Amino acid sequence: MSYLIIHTLADDSCDFPYDIEKDARGKLYCEKCYKIWEEIESVDVVVRDLDCLNPRVPFTFFTLPGLPIVHTSFLDCFQPDLLKRDLYLGRVYSAKRVLQADWFTVRARHRLIVRGTENVSLRWCEACGRPVYDTIAGCFLYPEPAGDVAYFTDETRFIARSDCVDIRRLRKMRRVAVQEIPVVDAPLDGYGVIEPKSYRSPPNPRWELPA
Ligand SMILES: [Zn+2]
Repeated sequence: MSYLIIHTLADDSCDFPYDIEKDARGKLYCEKCYKIWEEIESVDVVVRDLDCLNPRVPFTFFTLPGLPIVHTSFLDCFQPDLLKRDLYLGRVYSAKRVLQADWFTVRARHRLIVRGTENVSLRWCEACGRPVYDTIAGCFLYPEPAGDVAYFTDETRFIARSDCVDIRRLRKMRRVAVQEIPVVDAPLDGYGVIEPKSYRSPPNPRWELPA
């Protein structure tokens, strides 16, 4: 099985308006490591400034928490049945609460940690127990991802099975980077399988946009 990592080179990222950002902290994501609670599926957002959404750059990202925001033209590169199975799509609204119907946030049902070989650091979040992994280059996957899953996310990036996306179309998109990512037999960063030490979340984590 071969995999691709798809990331955005967009210059402008999106953020919540300040009042919602305050609400989201703790409710939507861990205050210490900024990772969305595992129990949360689709994430609806309000963007502070609509200028961050430019259809000519069809894949951009939300800063806090880290989440891809994509235009429908980007999703057309994915297979509809697999997309529906593997990805949760959330709605995107303007600050005046107008639905931006062509844009979606994306969170995969199955998430991965993209590993690397340079400047690697690994720690466990003191609040939620999840691994916080950082690297700057040399990306690889370990262990082999579940073969019956086509699309994964790692924060703002996608990892996709190469046979399940339209690579040529993706490569033509502006500010979208696509590269093969190897699956290795032995981790090149010296860490084994990275899993939460003990995941702790608030009771029934849910996310709804405040009225
Ligand atoms: Zn945390």
